[in-house]
Amino acid sequence: MENEMITEPDLQRIFNTLLIHGGIDGDEKTGAVSVPVYLTSTYRQIELGQHKGYEYSRTGNPTREALEVLIKELERGAAGFAFASGMAAITAVLLLFKSGDRVIISNNVYGGTYRVLDKVFKRFGLEYEIADTSNIQEVESKFNGEIAAVIVESPANPLLTITDIRKISQIAKKNGALTIVDNTFMTPYLQRPLELGADIVIHSATKYIGGHSDVIAGLVVTGDTEIANRLQFLQNATGGVLPPFDSWLLLRGLKTLSVRMDRHIENAVYVAEFLKEHDGVTRIFFPGIEDSIGYNIHKKQAKGPGAMISFILSQEYDIRIFFQNVKLISLGESLGGVESLVSHPASMTHASIPPEIRRKVGIDDNLIRLSVGIEDKEAIVDDLKYAFSKARKK
Ligand SMILES: *Cc1c(COP(=O)(O)O)cnc(C)c1O
Repeated sequence: MENEMITEPDLQRIFNTLLIHGGIDGDEKTGAVSVPVYLTSTYRQIELGQHKGYEYSRTGNPTREALEVLIKELERGAAGFAFASGMAAITAVLLLFKSGDRVIISNNVYGGTYRVLDKVFKRFGLEYEIADTSNIQEVESKFNGEIAAVIVESPANPLLTITDIRKISQIAKKNGALTIVDNTFMTPYLQRPLELGADIVIHSATKYIGGHSDVIAGLVVTGDTEIANRLQFLQNATGGVLPPFDSWLLLRGLKTLSVRMDRHIENAVYVAEFLKEHDGVTRIFFPGIEDSIGYNIHKKQAKGPGAMISFILSQEYDIRIFFQNVKLISLGESLGGVESLVSHPASMTHASIPPEIRRKVGIDDNLIRLSVGIEDKEAIVDDLKYAFSKARKK
């Protein structure tokens, strides 16, 4: 509401200030500028039926609340919720549905999202359908039957596929379905799905929001107060809450979010330019490249390309040797930390997706996913150059 008339530079100014002073700024009682870590399970009550706003830390904890208020403000929603992992957050959101409901998911949704739907929720009667959500016609055609929700990621893992969040939200709304966006790759600094029409936004805060590869966490924000009430009930009823210290780590990580993202992007653009010209790369996927698929849609809904790059290694190079010879860049799962990470989607993040489906959606066995960190950009490129030189089959 208040942001209708705010111009883009204003929005950024407010956003950057919110990162430092938003939510619950410091501690009123002592003047501490950092929100205290409230390591307490319970709270002394004044008398029967009267307390100071907190009863039990599964239900509410002041450190977690500071984070929940902050992420709500950053995503411009009505309420925020912090969970013990991205998967706990996704699970809580899926618990909004009931047996017999059907949801549409992107064909390259995060592997864990697919797994929890296929191996857990299906047993309880929640059905899913897979669609290429970058293809609006295909999504529209799936609305033949009753659909309760559409779950998308944009850019999606690992091919950085772009889905038009505005269009998907419009179609979903017309059909009485919710739009749920996993905004992990973008963060609210670069993309705010609720402003684009989505109902619920999810983060694996383990990634860019935490930003330092030291915490597992999940966040959910909704703009709808009724959904917010139901999520609050589910968070307390199922109990997958984020502990106080981990909440504090996210508050700390968020303070530098925009500074980190700006550097992540600067480095990623530099690395992408290098990869694009290299003969060891047959294809590159990065929303910062002008001829990438969905570039114009991405530009309309996000403020920057992020720092995830995927590329297909040429058959002239040995992928195992390539991975053995990155030194500065770590081979590992995850993404979004200050350190550069490289992974092999086919055997790591997307191993739980059956090989036939994997190939159908274009997750080549030679696909490499790079999370560009904030080290010196020349050093990252030098590391890649060395790995390419070693991996070249004579
Ligand atoms: C990592 C990730 C998740 C899962 O989050 P965890 O914190 O590992 O449970 C969900 N979605 C995306 C896009 C992710 O990258």
